[in-house]
Amino acid sequence: MLKIDNMDVFYGQVQILRQVSLDVKEGEIVSLLGSNGAGKTTTVNAISGILPVAKGSIQLSGQEINKVEPHVRVEMGLVQIPEGRKIFPTLSVMENLEMGSYLKVPKSFRKESLEIVLSMFPVLKTRKNQLAGTLSGGEQQMLAIGRGIMSRPKLLILDEPSLGLAPIIVDDIFDVIRKINGDGVTILLVEQNVPQALALSDRGFVMEEGRIGLSGKGKNLLADPHIKKLYLGL
Ligand code: ATP
Repeated sequence: MLKIDNMDVFYGQVQILRQVSLDVKEGEIVSLLGSNGAGKTTTVNAISGILPVAKGSIQLSGQEINKVEPHVRVEMGLVQIPEGRKIFPTLSVMENLEMGSYLKVPKSFRKESLEIVLSMFPVLKTRKNQLAGTLSGGEQQMLAIGRGIMSRPKLLILDEPSLGLAPIIVDDIFDVIRKINGDGVTILLVEQNVPQALALSDRGFVMEEGRIGLSGKGKNLLADPHIKKLYLGL
């Protein structure tokens, strides 16, 4: 579904990503892991088209999308839930969800998508008229995920959905990711929560200083001595 080959990305003169290659197959959950500043957000922002790619290629379902505008990528089914949720705090919960179906194709499915989201997150239904900025952190993350689902993703990219949330809420978020994948959506998950992400994932890619270091099956990476030492404190 997604194939990235030898991607280089710069901020101004500074090269951040070097020859990043990764792939996500249809139906998979793939995690992109690594410590602070490793280049995970830069990678997914390049995939979504928010950042330009200096070199290399990005293909979605076999089509080169390097020069495709971000909103067109969304209509092609490539949807990102950004780090830090980025909900619209002064709009209501319902208005935030509607913003997820702003584009033409998602808009034509708005009613149906809304039913899916509100049954997945009953709390959003009870709070539908409340200003989004007054929700708890976990509820805001659920709203951000719900808004993403309103865009009718084929490939959903979640950038650190567990960031800053209490462990019990993190469990809920990971359950939701599993459920969305079970409903047929392919997932690329950026996480610092390495054990939980790998336990959920078919495969993982580990970034170090702008490059992909290790990659492999989720359970093999969990057992890898380098991963254990760096991320699990073992
Ligand atoms: P985090 O989990 O902290 O977000 P990350 O792995 O997602 O980490 P990135 O946010 O992709 O890392 O950052 C990769 C590198 O790019 C870091 O060295 C960071 O300082 C740098 N960087 C990020 N954003 C910018 C920017 N707007 N301008 C210049 N450099 C940036």
